[in-house]
Amino acid sequence: MHTVSEVAFFDANACLGRSMCRTPGSPYDLKGLLRELDLCRITRALVYHASARELDSRKGNRALLEEIGGNRRLVPAAVFNPTPYKGERDLVGELSGLIRSGFKAFRAFPLYHGINFSDPEVRNVLGGLAERKSALWLDYDQLYYNFNQIGQHEQRAIDLAQVDLLAADFPDLTLVVVGAMYNHHSALFRVFDRRANVKAETSLFQGFEMIRFVCERWGAERLLFGTGLPLTSPGAARAALVYADISEDEKRKIASGNLEALLGEQQTPTLPDDPGRSRIMAAVDRGETLDSIPIFDCHGHIAPPGFEGPYGLTLGPQDAGSIVKVLDRIGIDSVAVSSWELMGGDTLEGNRTAWEAAQAFPGRFLPYAVVNSNYPEEWPQLVEECFTARRFFGFKPYPFSQRRQISDPAFENMLELAQNLRLPILCHFAFEPLGGVTAEEIASLAPRYPQTTFIVAHSGASFRAARVLVPLAQEFSNIYLEINYTSVPFGMVSYLANEAGVEKVLFGTDTPMRDPSPILGWVVYDHLSDEARRKILGGNFLNLVKKIGYPGRLKGL
Ligand SMILES: [Zn+2]
Repeated sequence: MHTVSEVAFFDANACLGRSMCRTPGSPYDLKGLLRELDLCRITRALVYHASARELDSRKGNRALLEEIGGNRRLVPAAVFNPTPYKGERDLVGELSGLIRSGFKAFRAFPLYHGINFSDPEVRNVLGGLAERKSALWLDYDQLYYNFNQIGQHEQRAIDLAQVDLLAADFPDLTLVVVGAMYNHHSALFRVFDRRANVKAETSLFQGFEMIRFVCERWGAERLLFGTGLPLTSPGAARAALVYADISEDEKRKIASGNLEALLGEQQTPTLPDDPGRSRIMAAVDRGETLDSIPIFDCHGHIAPPGFEGPYGLTLGPQDAGSIVKVLDRIGIDSVAVSSWELMGGDTLEGNRTAWEAAQAFPGRFLPYAVVNSNYPEEWPQLVEECFTARRFFGFKPYPFSQRRQISDPAFENMLELAQNLRLPILCHFAFEPLGGVTAEEIASLAPRYPQTTFIVAHSGASFRAARVLVPLAQEFSNIYLEINYTSVPFGMVSYLANEAGVEKVLFGTDTPMRDPSPILGWVVYDHLSDEARRKILGGNFLNLVKKIGYPGRLKGL
């Protein structure tokens, strides 16, 4: 069993106050935020005010100090918005005023506020912060939303070239990049190589084994634990850190020590024990291996050792042996995988990679067959290799990379075989048919292929997605909702369980693009009963496997 004592957490990325955009039930006032920090056993948080981002920064900063009052668990961060023009505006004077009124950290929204970092006045402020050896949080969130995106985090267009230039010009100023995720790894790591004064907070830093990679290559000093409250699940980042394969000392630095050092704050204590705590939460609090409950991940991927990419992505190791190590550390029994050849290359070859993983680690991998509808001449060979000579678990089509929608006749033979063999099909959800599979397409396919199970991937990406998918799960017995997405919206898992029925919600992680631990934390720290957690993490999947009569092996069956 892998166990560590509990680490004290000091959140480097939380927001207080009424934001115009709110996920259902998320906390916005002092009492609500503290209640959520208690639930996730996070001792302290650095907070900025929602209205300092969205409305009048100077007024919002004052409101923050008033709302925090004397509460020592919350540390105020000022939003610095240099953009509104006033003839006599003295930015350096404003900065001094903020420091005098007790702000120790500063946050800028370059896109939300349209900040011009070449402006000499703005650079004077950065110079002033550098002189004081302060830190500036750079949050590239923006007001405008591309409505084809399925998760809200996708609007955060981090300009790492700009971060690099600022870090070079102000080497005494620490820059904290907010919300970096797997598609920022490539650029972020180059900046890490060049600039010692750049750090990243971890609310969306979910890449497979990436916390360990950063610790090994640049040191634990580069990361600050952040929750992204109230927009994102605080439990996701918490679990990602406690299950990372790094030393306790490195965990303490990331969880609280690095932020304490930046702000000149004293050491953060852990919260007092709660004897009535959920047993599953208590185990995840300490990063224990969850041997006693079945955990099945219905959405993963796989590649041979040494795989690079796809696209320009920098991912961690993607091979079977590396995945099994992480599954074992957390206590995940099995993962259903499709090969990364769904993005490019030879899908038949990729299917063989998935099968080899299942053979090398019996019971740990359930292979999905990837069909490339643009190569219909390969169909007989795929059927022979995946369903006659062998028995794959199901199908994973990917209309996005094939530029062909699932309702196209080219996918008909896949749908018919799935119907005949009672195979599940993992459908990547999108609002637009070439982006993945839409709610309308699933609603029309589910009654036409009633023996097939349609597992809708990324159902929890956003409440906009969830609201169109919940009615489908309610109406059709052969539609299930798989949750995973980087966005980990606050309260999403309980929303899906309450609205679609807890039996319809399946744990999936996209491992090894993502580490499974943040998605586990998203489930475990949501407002659910332990019984609901057990169903979502594995019970529902086991029932589905029995229902469809899958003859392959699973760990524990
Ligand atoms: Zn995937």
